[in-house]
Amino acid sequence: MTYLPTPEQDELRAMVRELAQERIAPRAAAIDAAQEFPWDLKELLAQQDLLGICFEEQYGGTNLDGVSQAIVAEEIARADATTSLIPIVQKLGALPIMVAGSDEQKQRYFPRLASGEWLIAFALTEAAAGSDVASNRMRARRDGDDYILNGSKRFITHGSIANVLTAFALTDAEAGGRKGMSAFIVETDSPGFSAPRVEHKMGIRGSPTAELNFDDVRVPAANRLGEEGDGFKIAMATLDVSRLGVAAQAIGIAQGAIDAAVAYAAERRQFGQRVVDFEAIQFMLADMSSQTEAARQLVYAAAARVDAGVTDIPYWTSSAKLIAGDTAMRVTTDAVQVLGGYGYINEFPVERMMRDAKITQLYEGTQQIQRLVVARQLLARSGVPARG
Ligand SMILES: Cc1cc2nc3c(=O)[nH]c(=O)nc-3n(C[C@H](O)[C@H](O)[C@H](O)COP(=O)(O)OP(=O)(O)OC[C@H]3O[C@@H](n4cnc5c(N)ncnc54)[C@H](O)[C@@H]3O)c2cc1C
Repeated sequence: MTYLPTPEQDELRAMVRELAQERIAPRAAAIDAAQEFPWDLKELLAQQDLLGICFEEQYGGTNLDGVSQAIVAEEIARADATTSLIPIVQKLGALPIMVAGSDEQKQRYFPRLASGEWLIAFALTEAAAGSDVASNRMRARRDGDDYILNGSKRFITHGSIANVLTAFALTDAEAGGRKGMSAFIVETDSPGFSAPRVEHKMGIRGSPTAELNFDDVRVPAANRLGEEGDGFKIAMATLDVSRLGVAAQAIGIAQGAIDAAVAYAAERRQFGQRVVDFEAIQFMLADMSSQTEAARQLVYAAAARVDAGVTDIPYWTSSAKLIAGDTAMRVTTDAVQVLGGYGYINEFPVERMMRDAKITQLYEGTQQIQRLVVARQLLARSGVPARG
């Protein structure tokens, strides 16, 4: 076992870091203020082959290992959390196809996703079905060689700009969400599809979070993923892996805040000395850094285990997301403290980072849900029945 990054991973980090520092960080404040999706940075990431990192070579991807994918998300998030969502959600949306798609479906969609020509979104959440995914209501009714989708989705990242979605709907309402839900690939130029509303958010403000409507949207049966009734299983298998992207995003945001806090404290003088020379500040910085490093190592350990196909993937990925998200929130809050009043105003990036960090405790399963997953896995490992 080696805990050291490979030379290729070090090289990748250096490359993405330079790109992020030079091209992404200078845009971050304006993206946040304008609340506009950074199409220029999407193009930049596509040109640099950073949108194809999770796709196999045969589809035009670069098929990076899990730790390398985490490094990419982390280094982009260190500069701008909104932009880091572009590769993260490209993987999230594609994962149901990776999990359950046929060769033909992969061949049809992956090359356009790997090149960045198309964006994809993952449409699971509904107004009444957040943490409780199985209470989904959207319907898919079979009609000859097609399905007809009716219903709506809520809070879908990139939902208003994606070319294609992986979407979940009940094919058997009687059986309910766990057994009666199916997964579909839906092209967003299908008649009856619309994205009527984009949310105003606390953070990741350049990333459109959309409500989606499906009004008699006709989807070929060939676009169903797996069998009828496989939807819940596919959604869970997706989230078990995809939440590592959010965990990597969280440590990137935390690291960005540490960098900004150190730089500021080294310049700012009070009581005749640099703020960074106060021991109280050094101790805060030490906690911020060591906690972020611990979270980072857990994310990499989880990523390596996903690649190895271990049987307890949810234990690792939920633990990583839990620790990384909570660390990002704590560290960014402390970074604001290190900057004093200047931390609270948007002339400095830490207030944006604090707002951005909050979402990592909420999406792809709230922290409470991560704890449920970890606890269930822990009890199963220990041979303790779930209910006494
Ligand atoms: C910016 C943003 C982007 C998103 N992107 C996507 C996306 O791309 N695709 C997608 O499908 N969804 C997306 N989501 C949805 C996101 O995954 C949900 O918001 C999240 O899962 C929580 O659901 P909820 O908001 O309905 O909260 P609720 O489930 O209503 O939870 C409310 C509170 O109750 C707690 N709670 C709920 N159940 C339990 C329980 N069993 N035990 C203990 N506590 C519990 C929660 O932790 C939370 O604190 C996004 C959300 C946001 C805000």
